[in-house]
Amino acid sequence: MFAPDDTIVAIATAAGRAAIGIVRISGPESLRVAASVLDQSISLQPRRATIARIGVGARSTLDEVVVTWFAAPASYTGQDVVEISSHGTPVVLEAIVRRAIDAGARLARPGEFTLRAFLNGKRDLIQAEAVGDLIAAATPLQARTAFDQLEGTLSERIASVDALVFDLLVRLEASIDFPDEGYHFVKAGEVVAGLDAALQRVDVLLCDSGRGRMIREGATVVIAGRTNVGKSSLFNALAGTERAIVTPVAGTTRDLVTERVDINGVEITLVDTAGSRETEDVVEREGVIRGGRARQSADLVLVVVDASAPLMAEDERLLQDTSTVRRLIATNKCDLARAASSASAVALAGEQVCRVSAVTSEGLEALRQSIVSALGVGESPRDTAAISNVRHIDLLRRARAHLSEARTAASMTTPEEFILTDLQAARACLDEMVGTRTSEDVLEQVFSRFCIGK
Ligand code: GDP
Repeated sequence: MFAPDDTIVAIATAAGRAAIGIVRISGPESLRVAASVLDQSISLQPRRATIARIGVGARSTLDEVVVTWFAAPASYTGQDVVEISSHGTPVVLEAIVRRAIDAGARLARPGEFTLRAFLNGKRDLIQAEAVGDLIAAATPLQARTAFDQLEGTLSERIASVDALVFDLLVRLEASIDFPDEGYHFVKAGEVVAGLDAALQRVDVLLCDSGRGRMIREGATVVIAGRTNVGKSSLFNALAGTERAIVTPVAGTTRDLVTERVDINGVEITLVDTAGSRETEDVVEREGVIRGGRARQSADLVLVVVDASAPLMAEDERLLQDTSTVRRLIATNKCDLARAASSASAVALAGEQVCRVSAVTSEGLEALRQSIVSALGVGESPRDTAAISNVRHIDLLRRARAHLSEARTAASMTTPEEFILTDLQAARACLDEMVGTRTSEDVLEQVFSRFCIGK
């Protein structure tokens, strides 16, 4: 994994056909490898697009390409990088890669270009991970959150905490090193105040972490309800597709139907389940069991009842079953005249419900807002979250625990050595976040999730 001195090659664009495809080469031999891929010798200037041909000899030219050289260190990886843009057909792209390998390049592993950018100090680990998040983003909010981190906003905030801790550490060490000089480099009160300031900055970040994680990872919302209340209709309305089958026949949905949708910026995996009811049909019964399991693992259960009918025993049971999980109740079919005064509306009088109609779309926007709000992301989240990656959140929590221990020790005027140990442990966590000190295992884990060519 850590051989940053050879020359690597990979197709950087997505698999399949497209107008343009790009092959990226990085390493000390990039120019030589690129030259042997091309038909004729061309003189490349840094950051200048140059037209060339590739193929085997003039007669069998495969394509005309545009070649761009980014001279080290002013490149994505910090090494000499050559990008060859051809027409986006796998045949040509693969031929370029094959020829580059014949010329001595090695096929890049997933994330290896970004790993090199990290190893060459072009990006810290938080920024490198943000590249992966940005590529994986399915909603604009995810993309903006990732881009903020790519720009270094989180790294700066971690650096500001680290600077406070480092300052305390240096002064405490000086007090230990020169105990007899009658000069106190730091008073106990100052240590406590410094730690309070650091803890406050950490807490501001952690406070937003649940929302950040939800933005980054998305959430699962399971639609539950008895048969025929309009679960599949609501599923389709929220998904904006006719994905689930809608019929007046009870028991149509027998397995879980899932769709990823963007609900007010949050990536939601929407799950339609079989209607809860007693049934002799083995397939439907299995569907009901699966629906029950899906409810258990959901981030939110959307319980749908029929606004135009009285609550039935199955509705009551489901409301009872979901009373301890995070849920939202939607009374569907509110377009029907008798819905207004229906017994179900009366029965749910004490509950917060969303009145909605899957047929007319009435109340649908409010339902979307209630869903993200119930997930704790705010009704219409526009702001990105500073911290969103669970690796960062875990490390920051660990750093906080050490800082808090140090604060307790400092407030009890414990010997400096003990406080120092905690401060060093807190810094180690912050270092691991940004990658200043990090194990090969962590790097392998981070970069193996990337796609090849990134
Ligand atoms: P499911 O069994 O809970 O998934 O319910 P479906 O989505 O299959 O809907 C059952 C029946 O109710 C179908 O005939 C739908 O057209 C109808 N339906 C669903 N939502 C509404 C609604 O909001 N208003 C009205 N009037 N009918 C609806």
